[in-house]
Amino acid sequence: MQHTSYIEISKSAYAKNIDFLRSEVGKKTEISIVVKGNAYGHGIENIVPIAEENGIRHFSTFSADEALRVHEASSQNSQVMIMGMLDNANLEEIILKGISFFVFEFDRLEAAIETAKKLDLKAKIHVELETGFHRTGFEWEDREWLAKVLEENNAFLDLKGLCTHYAGAESISNYVRVRRQIKEYKKFRKWFSANGLKFEKYHTACSAATLSYPETIMDMVRVGIASYGLWPTMETYMYRFQSLPEDNKNPLKRLISWKSSVMNTKSVQMGDFVGYGSSYMAPRDMTIALVPIGYGHGYSRLLSNQGKVLIHGKMVSVVGTVTMNSIAVDVTDLESVQKNDEVVIVGCQGDNEITVASFGESTQQVNYELLTRLPIDIPRKVVS
Ligand SMILES: *Cc1c(COP(=O)(O)O)cnc(C)c1O
Repeated sequence: MQHTSYIEISKSAYAKNIDFLRSEVGKKTEISIVVKGNAYGHGIENIVPIAEENGIRHFSTFSADEALRVHEASSQNSQVMIMGMLDNANLEEIILKGISFFVFEFDRLEAAIETAKKLDLKAKIHVELETGFHRTGFEWEDREWLAKVLEENNAFLDLKGLCTHYAGAESISNYVRVRRQIKEYKKFRKWFSANGLKFEKYHTACSAATLSYPETIMDMVRVGIASYGLWPTMETYMYRFQSLPEDNKNPLKRLISWKSSVMNTKSVQMGDFVGYGSSYMAPRDMTIALVPIGYGHGYSRLLSNQGKVLIHGKMVSVVGTVTMNSIAVDVTDLESVQKNDEVVIVGCQGDNEITVASFGESTQQVNYELLTRLPIDIPRKVVS
C-alpha cells in the first residue's frame, strides 16, 4: 500500500549524536536514552536497536506501556526506567521484568514494597526529589520518614537512583530557578549520605542541562531531544556555539526526514482563489501542486500561506489553507513539476534544507511537539 508520506530515520546521524554526547559527558557517565512519546515520534521499535548498536544500554520512558515495548525491543538486556505513569496494578509485571521506576509519592512506594514482598524480589526504584519543578517529587519535609521507610524495607528495595528534573534548563531566563534546583538537589543528596543512604546512580540532567550546566552531569544523564539530533532550543545552541570544536560546529544531526510526493498539478488564473475560503487569491497565472499531507498528518493549520516545502531542490510556498489531508504549493517558477515528484517536508533536497526548528518560527511549535505529533501510521524507514 502506497502511503501519502513517509519518514526516514538516519542511522549514521544517530551514531554521530551519540559520539558527541559521549564526548560531552565523559566515559564514566551512563547515557540513558529517553524514548517517551514513541521515541519522540521516531518509533520505540526503530530507536532501541539503533541505540543498542551504538552501545546504549539504558532507556527512559514516561509510562509502563512504553517500558514494556522497550523491554520487548531490546536484544541486549538493556535497563529500562519509567519516569512517570505507572499504575499500582502493573507493579507486579514491572518488578518481575526488572524494570526500574521513579517513586515520588508514598502510595507508590508502599505499593512497590508490598508487591516486592509478595514476589520475594527487590523493586528497583529511583527516588525523585522535589527541587523546584513542582510537579512530582518528595519534599524536603518528607526526608526523615522517607529515609526510615527506605531503610526498614531495604530487603525489598534496590535503590537504583536519586534523581530530579530541572524546570527549564533550555532557557537562560530560568537560570536562577535552575541554579536553585541544583543547590536543592545537592542539599538532599548530602543529607541522605549523612544518614547512611546510598543510591547506585545520582542523575538529574536532561539534554539542556547536560549541554548547558556541566555540573548536572553525574552518574547518568537522561537525554532525549539531543539524541534525535535537535537542540532543546535555539538558545541552548547559541550558548554552546563558541565552545564547540572548530571542526564540529554542528554536532547534532537530525535523524528524520519527512517526504511525500506530488499528487496532482493544476493551472490557476490570476484572480482565482486557491483552496477553501478566500485566504489566497492568485496574484498572477500560476501552477499549483497538491501534496497529500495536511493537519491530519501533523502539518499544522498555522502553516496556511506560511509553510515551505522542497520540490526539485527549491523552496516553494504553501498557498491557501492547510486542509486535513493536503496542501497546495506554488510551483509556477519550477520547470514542469509532475505527479509523483518528490516533496520534502522536513529534510534536504539538492542544496536546500527544511529543519524541524524552522516550524517553530512559523507555528510556535517546539521541536518536541512537531516530532511527537507525527502520526504513528506514517511509515518510518530506517536508512543508513
Ligand atoms: C523528557 C525528560 C527528559 C529528557 O528531556 P530532553 O529535553 O528531551 O533531553 C529527562 N528527564 C525527564 C524526567 C523527562 O521527563
